[in-house]
Amino acid sequence: MPTRSIIHLDLDAFFASVEELLDPAIAGKPVIVGGDPLARGVVSSASYAARAFGVRSAMPMGQALRLCPQAIVRHGHFAEYRRYSEQAMAILAAYTPLVEQISIDEAFLDVTGCERLWGEAPEIARTLQRRILDECRLPSSVGVATNKLVAKIASGLRKPRALVVVPAGEEASFLAPLRIEELWGVGEVAARRLHDLGLHTIGDLAAVPRETLIYAFGSYGAVLHEHAHGRDGSPVVTEGRRRSLSREETFARDVADEGELTRVLLRLSDEVAARLRRHGVQGRVVGLKLRTGDFVTLTRRATLPQPTDLAPAIYERARQLFRRAWKPGTPLRLLGVGVAGLVETPAYQLDLFGGGEQRWARLSQALDEIHARYGAEAIRRAAFLESDEGDWLEGEDGGG
Ligand SMILES: [Mg+2]
Repeated sequence: MPTRSIIHLDLDAFFASVEELLDPAIAGKPVIVGGDPLARGVVSSASYAARAFGVRSAMPMGQALRLCPQAIVRHGHFAEYRRYSEQAMAILAAYTPLVEQISIDEAFLDVTGCERLWGEAPEIARTLQRRILDECRLPSSVGVATNKLVAKIASGLRKPRALVVVPAGEEASFLAPLRIEELWGVGEVAARRLHDLGLHTIGDLAAVPRETLIYAFGSYGAVLHEHAHGRDGSPVVTEGRRRSLSREETFARDVADEGELTRVLLRLSDEVAARLRRHGVQGRVVGLKLRTGDFVTLTRRATLPQPTDLAPAIYERARQLFRRAWKPGTPLRLLGVGVAGLVETPAYQLDLFGGGEQRWARLSQALDEIHARYGAEAIRRAAFLESDEGDWLEGEDGGG
């Protein structure tokens, strides 16, 4: 494979930044977008002025307000977030058709071969960042590298308003001093296990023989080895080429409680359904992925009678697969739900909503907004994993 040029662009504190645009009086002040503290809401997004007080995404609102009592709290203007996101994404699409939007506020671009048209990748990155600031008034951070893994880590390294370029050949040395937790898929449990082995930085991990990691972590060890060296062959996947959509979540600690796992399944089903609708596609194959506390990974798939983009249908089938695959009490570290066999949503379902369809459409939109409120930033890491190990849905049928 020739050397690729990959850009990862991430809007800084996106929801909070939009709130500041909507109400210039709060610009520069500590702004938190999130749920109701009494309803156990969490922080979806915090401005950098709020982060200075220690406020972080996914933190309970009560805790955030104890750290920063003077914070200005907004519960979210979702239509506006969508509008700004679409405006920013349209700027990216003007430079290459190879854009993969991975959440409302971040995307990968593959600009390999665009030099003659737009200049070298760092120059394109700077242009994108400046245009999004000038035209959308939104700050962003950008990473440039030869693959998605390194570009993504680079964009997050010096937020906000950062541009970090990792030249070809310097991937491993760039990653070496960073904490192991920065790598995709290394949750708290895996990190603790690696720390116990005396491994703290990505460089420490890169020095471990591949066979040793495979011995300790199974097939996941081979992935860890590649990533620790800054190697990642995963392509930038545009919507037209996408054959499946999935979401997975790595837990901060192993979870064995059926109720809790069921809630995660519901949330993941809901997220996948929202993405299907956003992309105007439906799928017929529902997939389930789980990884046990001792790193055994299982995938299961089942076919639906007809394609769907609705959470209840996806959840119901995922739940059946889960019941068959999971032995009660087994601690899990990762759970994933996906849909494959994608087809475009028939036009009559998009345009000519009858009574029942219209009700569904409204419900679906409400769910999308709940997600924008509680999910988008909190599950970013999980969403991102999909590009890492997203092939599981497209392999052989795992039964079920
Ligand atoms: Mg962001």
